[in-house]
Amino acid sequence: MIVVIYKTLYVINTIQMKLKELKSCRICFTKKLVKYLNLGNHPYSNSFLSKGQIPKEIKYPLELKLCKKCGLSQLSVIPNTKKIFSDYDYLSSSSSALDNHYLKLVKKITKKYNINKNDTVLDVGCNDGVLLKHYIKKTNNIVGIEPSNAIEKIKNKNKINIINKFFNFKTSKEYLRKYKRPRIITITNVLAQIDDLNNFVKGLRNISDNKTVIIIEFPYSLLMFDYTFFDLIYHEHLSYFNLSCINYLFEKFNFSIIDYEKIDLGASGPAIRIYITTKNSEIKRNKKKIKSILQKELKWGIKKIIRYKLFSFKVEKKINHIRKIIYDLFNKNKSIGCFTASAKGNTLLNCLKIEKKIIKYTCENNKRKIGKYMPGTHIKIISDNEYLKKKIDYSLLLSWNYANFFLNNSSYKKRGGKFIIPFPKISIK
Ligand SMILES: [Zn+2]
Repeated sequence: MIVVIYKTLYVINTIQMKLKELKSCRICFTKKLVKYLNLGNHPYSNSFLSKGQIPKEIKYPLELKLCKKCGLSQLSVIPNTKKIFSDYDYLSSSSSALDNHYLKLVKKITKKYNINKNDTVLDVGCNDGVLLKHYIKKTNNIVGIEPSNAIEKIKNKNKINIINKFFNFKTSKEYLRKYKRPRIITITNVLAQIDDLNNFVKGLRNISDNKTVIIIEFPYSLLMFDYTFFDLIYHEHLSYFNLSCINYLFEKFNFSIIDYEKIDLGASGPAIRIYITTKNSEIKRNKKKIKSILQKELKWGIKKIIRYKLFSFKVEKKINHIRKIIYDLFNKNKSIGCFTASAKGNTLLNCLKIEKKIIKYTCENNKRKIGKYMPGTHIKIISDNEYLKKKIDYSLLLSWNYANFFLNNSSYKKRGGKFIIPFPKISIK
């Protein structure tokens, strides 16, 4: 769901096998896509390497294109997500912040829509059941759809029913053979990873009736553009959504967006939560609010290439600025490291193109990553304790979204270390 870490070797092989070029917009099918951002060639952001894998590493273009017809930004290439998800080993429940986020969401939904024991609820891309488990006391009909092996953890829990597949129109027919139409469908941080969006929404239409509410959470692209959060761009994220293009997509299948709210998803940054129903639904629609945000997005320039070229310009400026800070410190004989081994950090590091002798280590507390090397830069990942022993003066904080936490709690900071915080504004603290 939110942070996904794939098994390294498998992913590299997958990418070698297949990586298609994007020929037409995945929402409106137009072929007129305009390239506006070129971050160069990057390896897969979650492919943390063993020493033996380093020489075999392969890089692929990390570029964004705009569809001027519907306003969707999308990667210029399509990694083979089907293979990736069949061997996906991150368990969502291991993040307590995420767990808490879903607990609150389920409480809100069940109250707002008065969910009772007979109602059916569905989570698409349910991972290890991090969201669904919070429904257990509320209803007897819980269904999760998930293509990866994360599902093994919940397979034997009687209360949660599972379809171990990708969701699409075909899977929607299987769903209808087994279960009642859902009152609630949640889809959180899944949409960016779907290639055939039309087939996905066709599947949703097939299982929805006029009592169904679909709740979708996704990173909001306008904030990414406004704040130059270019590290959110990596190969797992095929699309970067605004509300207007989602509205266009769902209207094609007779759905309406009835409400939205801005939320913060921690690791994935600023996001938006939308509520969708069928067009003939009895559920109240906040027409004015939706109309207003769609107008604001048009005014912002979601279909104007100049807005995106400006973003591209700001990205380049930001990269140069961070690089300069690092080189200036290095030239003053300061030792420099990285803090955490996050996927988005790899986009930033690979854009910076810093010489190997400058940054040798990054620290991390996830045991699966310690001892491995960062994709592209091959910076060694060491434990927090080992990192402290290296006596590093300045650390580039890759998980900048947790800056406050690290500033207040890390032993590194307490021992006098300083952070270079790259986003939202560059600062040294
Ligand atoms: Zn389009």
